[in-house]
Amino acid sequence: MPRLRRDRAWAGGHTRALDLRAGDPVLITAGSDRGKRGVVVRTLPEEQRIVIGGVNIHKRHQRAGQRRGGTSALQGGVVDFPAPIHYSNVRLVCPHCDRPTRVKKALFDGRYGIVCRLCGERYERVTG
Ligand SMILES: [Zn+2]
Repeated sequence: MPRLRRDRAWAGGHTRALDLRAGDPVLITAGSDRGKRGVVVRTLPEEQRIVIGGVNIHKRHQRAGQRRGGTSALQGGVVDFPAPIHYSNVRLVCPHCDRPTRVKKALFDGRYGIVCRLCGERYERVTG
């Protein structure tokens, strides 16, 4: 069951498809991790947020013996995890020109692909 969140409302109730996918190389353009590069781990389109490996690391303090969702008892201590950041603070890094860019859609043999706005090269993903 999808989780609905209040901050969906700012998008007017509809969600724009994110043009980033897991595995994409990205640059962080805002926040404490500004200037860092990373790779998209997963996207949360409903929340317009993206999880990037090794970026925006938060610490979750956990009490020993706490149980979550029926899993086995967790050890106490501090757990590092990458927190999701808003997609507008992230830019795709074009593998052709190695610059943070925005992409546009273009037709290739009758199918839509995405193209770097800076160098015009097609950005191809390994998967779909
Ligand atoms: Zn480019």
